[in-house]
Amino acid sequence: MSLAFPAPASVLAKLVAVDVAVALRSSVPVGSGLAAVSQTSLCPGCGADLPSTEGPVHAYMTSSPACWAAFGRVLAAEYTMPELMPIHRLSVDAYAVQHPGDPADRRAVQSVGLHLARLWRQLEWPTPPAETNEVMKGFAARKETLVYLAPPPKFSITVAEVAPYAGSSAHGEKVLAWARAAWADWSAHHEYVRTWAQDQ
Ligand SMILES: [Zn+2]
Repeated sequence: MSLAFPAPASVLAKLVAVDVAVALRSSVPVGSGLAAVSQTSLCPGCGADLPSTEGPVHAYMTSSPACWAAFGRVLAAEYTMPELMPIHRLSVDAYAVQHPGDPADRRAVQSVGLHLARLWRQLEWPTPPAETNEVMKGFAARKETLVYLAPPPKFSITVAEVAPYAGSSAHGEKVLAWARAAWADWSAHHEYVRTWAQDQ
């Protein structure tokens, strides 16, 4: 599988195209394809501002299609480059806690709590992989006791700042910074998460 990363030239070309579309907008009928090209959209989960696209999203981790696609580029690199697998879990956890979804959906509530607990364990109490796996199985087995946690108003780093480095030599450090920031942004609930996670 080949990974397509935006080269600077193609990014520049896209920006120019957007400028042209904006300049033409007054003469473009509403609803034309050109108008769509010029728009960005804020992800309802993490707030990432990305060029609007159409496409699939996750069932309960509410995001924009563009944000889900950006995460897909990060995952694609991790699945195809064995040296990135050690960081893979942090990518999944960081993305999950930034896309809380519907508070009325138990899957969404449990996803946030579970992935916060995983972030806590990996960032504050790192252990060898086999031990970490066992701890995480324990988390998953009792995720039904997790309660809804109101998300922070803003996330300081999103997948939009990680995806451009997918598969590059900076991939690991970008994911680590993203995961640390995601955990820090949830500081209002750190005590709850630590207590739940250690309540074996
Ligand atoms: Zn997002």
